[in-house]
Amino acid sequence: MSQSPIVLTGDRPTGPLHLGHYVGSLRQRVTLQEQYRQFVMIADAQALTDNMGDLSKVRRNVIEVALDYLAVGLDPAKSTLFIQSQLTELAELSFYLLNLVTVARLERNPTVKEEIRLRGMERDIPAGFLTYPVSQTADITAFKAALVPVGADQAPMIEQCNELVRRFNNCVGKEILVEAQALIPDHGRLVGADGGAKMSKSLGNALALSADSAAIAAFVRSMYTDPNHLRVSDPGQVEGNVVFTYLDVFDPDKAAVEELKDHYRRGGLGDTVLKRRLTEHLEALITPIRERRAQFAQDPAEVMNILRQGTERAREAAAATMSEVKAALGLSYW
Ligand code: ATP
Ligand code: MG
Repeated sequence: MSQSPIVLTGDRPTGPLHLGHYVGSLRQRVTLQEQYRQFVMIADAQALTDNMGDLSKVRRNVIEVALDYLAVGLDPAKSTLFIQSQLTELAELSFYLLNLVTVARLERNPTVKEEIRLRGMERDIPAGFLTYPVSQTADITAFKAALVPVGADQAPMIEQCNELVRRFNNCVGKEILVEAQALIPDHGRLVGADGGAKMSKSLGNALALSADSAAIAAFVRSMYTDPNHLRVSDPGQVEGNVVFTYLDVFDPDKAAVEELKDHYRRGGLGDTVLKRRLTEHLEALITPIRERRAQFAQDPAEVMNILRQGTERAREAAAATMSEVKAALGLSYW
């Protein structure tokens, strides 16, 4: 009997989840939970790899991320929601996997390189940060997850994960760990309002899924458009214009967006009209999420209880893999 693939994914509790998470991964998870056994991890231990100087931020945001999960429709009866640091199995598996990767390979990971640059850590990279792709491999493989719904920035992580899986299985001469496939949505990664870097909690360019109307309006107002489009009558540029990037993602009426693009290129269409349209779409998306979130937020003890139960279920799965891993490594003695 072939078993349905297992899904694992997660987020770092470094801030409330934002629109990038929604299009990059959360939306897919809500669909996947209907069909698959899905584990969703709050990656607090991974968050510490670049936040040892701000421990309270990570601690505080665990519940915020959990609230975002529940608000977007992750259902604890269908998805196992858990906290990474509470499973020592994950740290243990990382410890063994670290022996199967070279420092040079870790330094070549393009996402890690980019993150180091954006965080200005070139001179002082914590070893834990450099090796977080290995820890992420442990998170995925401890659950034998075959599907990982993530944003485009995570593709190199899954590649590195699979290298480690092959190396591990080769090393022990058995197929113990499972290769994973990234499920990356078409839109790839959502940029921030300035159109430069990807929207990210750590870069302060994000619109939270819990944003109120004023924050949504301010976010859209600050969006980069075409700096040469000075008068409404001027022809404008659509490429690189963040408002259009967002309309492509968030406006369900694709034909209308194409017409707006033509109009904008010809001239005669102002930024204000476009921004108003985008603001309405974002309001329609975020308002129900914000309302559900406020409801769950009334009972934080219940939210923590959901996480505790999920963590217990997750531990069983990870512990089963760890016994296989240790036996395969010859590390079982009695
Ligand atoms: P941090 O800045 O702390 O790294 P982050 O905003 O990058 O936070 P993560 O917790 O690292 O968020 O990422 C969680 C998931 O969300 C990953 O699957 C990632 O690919 C996806 N994701 C994050 N930002 C975006 C984005 N801008 N567009 C699409 N997907 C994203
Ligand atoms: Mg990130």
